[in-house]
Amino acid sequence: MIIVKDLHKTFENNHVLKGVSYHVHQGEKIVIVGPSGSGKSTFLRCLNLLETPTSGEIWFDGQLITDEKVNIDRIRQHMGMVFQNFNLFNNHTIMDNITLAPVKLKLMSKEEASEKALTLLDRVGLREKADAYPSQLSGGQKQRIAIVRSLAMNPRVMLFDEPTSALDPEMVGEVLAVMKELAETGMTMVVVTHEMGFAREVGTKVLFMDEGRIMEENTPAEFFANPRCDRLKEFLSKVL
Ligand code: ADP
Ligand code: MG
Repeated sequence: MIIVKDLHKTFENNHVLKGVSYHVHQGEKIVIVGPSGSGKSTFLRCLNLLETPTSGEIWFDGQLITDEKVNIDRIRQHMGMVFQNFNLFNNHTIMDNITLAPVKLKLMSKEEASEKALTLLDRVGLREKADAYPSQLSGGQKQRIAIVRSLAMNPRVMLFDEPTSALDPEMVGEVLAVMKELAETGMTMVVVTHEMGFAREVGTKVLFMDEGRIMEENTPAEFFANPRCDRLKEFLSKVL
């Protein structure tokens, strides 16, 4: 579904991604871990072109999306993204947050979008918040809404960048539970997280990024039981 070939990203003279190549197949749950500053967010943001790669290729569903002529908005429609800090529109109700984009992009009528929103809100147990504003929600609730908002676009893949890092500890579980349920529906997911339990339980593959490269890739069982490179051993000794 996604093919990344020799991806490089440089900010001014900071060479952040130093040749990342990777394939994501449909239905996979790729979990990316690694130290802060290793390029995890930059990698995710390149996947949906929130950052423009300096060089390299990204293919999505057979289309070369790093091509200049590509319609970036069309690509992003199919790639949901959930950020650490929710990024909800604070001056809009939850219902509007979920329905504005699909209606504006003419993917659905207002009625269809509202109906879909209610179904999704039910799925995450927040139907009664449809008319509330983001400021009236807890962090965990906001993040569940952010996930619903992405899902309302019927994405082909969901990208998560540390979705639980900004949450109070007691709210982490409710967000991970929604992500786990989503994984069970067969959604293709790429998740940057520090939640090693999630990586172990939900990941089909776990990647270790360090200094702009994928240093190691393995099944969760092997990744945690038999880390090969010293950097990963050291990283795991700190986080586990
Ligand atoms: P991680 O998500 O693994 O913590 P990031 O991808 O956020 O790492 O950052 C990797 C490096 O890229 C850092 O040195 C960071 O300062 C730099 N960086 C990220 N985004 C930008 C940006 N928009 N402009 C300049 N430098 C950036
Ligand atoms: Mg990051």
